[in-house]
Amino acid sequence: MRLALDQAALAVRGGDVPVGAVVLSPDGTTVLGAGHNEREATGDPTAHAEVLAIRRAAAQLGEWRLTGCTLVVTLEPCTMCAGALVQSRVDRVVYGARDDKAGAAGSLWDVVRDRRLNHRPEVIEGVLAEDCAALLTDFFRNR
Ligand SMILES: [Zn+2]
Repeated sequence: MRLALDQAALAVRGGDVPVGAVVLSPDGTTVLGAGHNEREATGDPTAHAEVLAIRRAAAQLGEWRLTGCTLVVTLEPCTMCAGALVQSRVDRVVYGARDDKAGAAGSLWDVVRDRRLNHRPEVIEGVLAEDCAALLTDFFRNR
């Protein structure tokens, strides 16, 4: 989560909301992909931290299945990212702060653990939640 927080801090430079994500290898020792929000920086509505980290991890592995991998993100994934997580077949999703307004991993929806889907990653929430939320609070206070 510290690595994801480092990524989140990078987002602010491009004027983006500070959310960061990393994808860890199945043995947990290697960062396969990292990303931070780049919507403002790139003008791409899908450039969320999770999507970018997933894409980079898949490119690194040379395949779309991230079986065994863990995605760590500072903020609860939105519906798009939750969908991408299911599609990527990650085994585990770890997030920091909850997103009561748009969260799709337990708050407003629970897309990643929807029993109607054929893949349901394990979800661990609340890791360094206060640090993750503080980054966001500071960002919005300064705007
Ligand atoms: Zn998202």
